[in-house]
Amino acid sequence: MRLLVVEDEPDLNRQLVEALVDAGYAVDKALDGEEGHFLGDTEPYDAVVLDLGLPRMDGISVLEQWRRNHRDMPVLILTARDRWSDKVAGMDAGADDYVAKPFHMEEVLARLRALLRRSAGHASSEIEVGPLRLDTKASRVTLDGGAVKLTSHEFRLLSYLVHHCGRVVSRTELIEHLYDQDFDRDSNTVEVFIGRLRKKLPQGMIKTVRGLGYCLTEPDGDGSK
Ligand code: CA
Repeated sequence: MRLLVVEDEPDLNRQLVEALVDAGYAVDKALDGEEGHFLGDTEPYDAVVLDLGLPRMDGISVLEQWRRNHRDMPVLILTARDRWSDKVAGMDAGADDYVAKPFHMEEVLARLRALLRRSAGHASSEIEVGPLRLDTKASRVTLDGGAVKLTSHEFRLLSYLVHHCGRVVSRTELIEHLYDQDFDRDSNTVEVFIGRLRKKLPQGMIKTVRGLGYCLTEPDGDGSK
């Protein structure tokens, strides 16, 4: 999952980015509204953390323009604690949720997890695909109850596939949603990680759809690939 943080206070921006990277997300950052608007308008983020009080372009305008442009990723706004009117304006402009400053990082992380799984159509914090279970809260994957050991890159890839299980996901989509802006995007990397994941999962769970991409499904009952 790839996220964007738009926050003009450098310390807070850094803290948010660090916490999100630690939680396993690919993260891009912007320090003013214009840059944030541009990134959100041109890059495919799974969710955005958007401060409302921003230089160059305020957060409400950023959000309104995204929505007008049919950019429909979930947006979590950061509001000042005592400004209830900001929350109303933000939600009306198209925000999906808000956190009031000062906040506990855990709350931001929990609200983002909820937004990410709901936008992918999952209500529960644990997503099951056959014997595979992704605990989005603990960032853990189990197979028939046993823990699956994954590197952070493998986890990020599998988590994306699980959130979008049953749907064909192209290699380009994976690259765009698994790596931040500065990452050297070599498409072979995805194939390497898919290969590693396949060795850790039951046969046939990650299908290759020729020319289109990959699809995570329940393991085959008939043994075919
Ligand atoms: Ca601010």
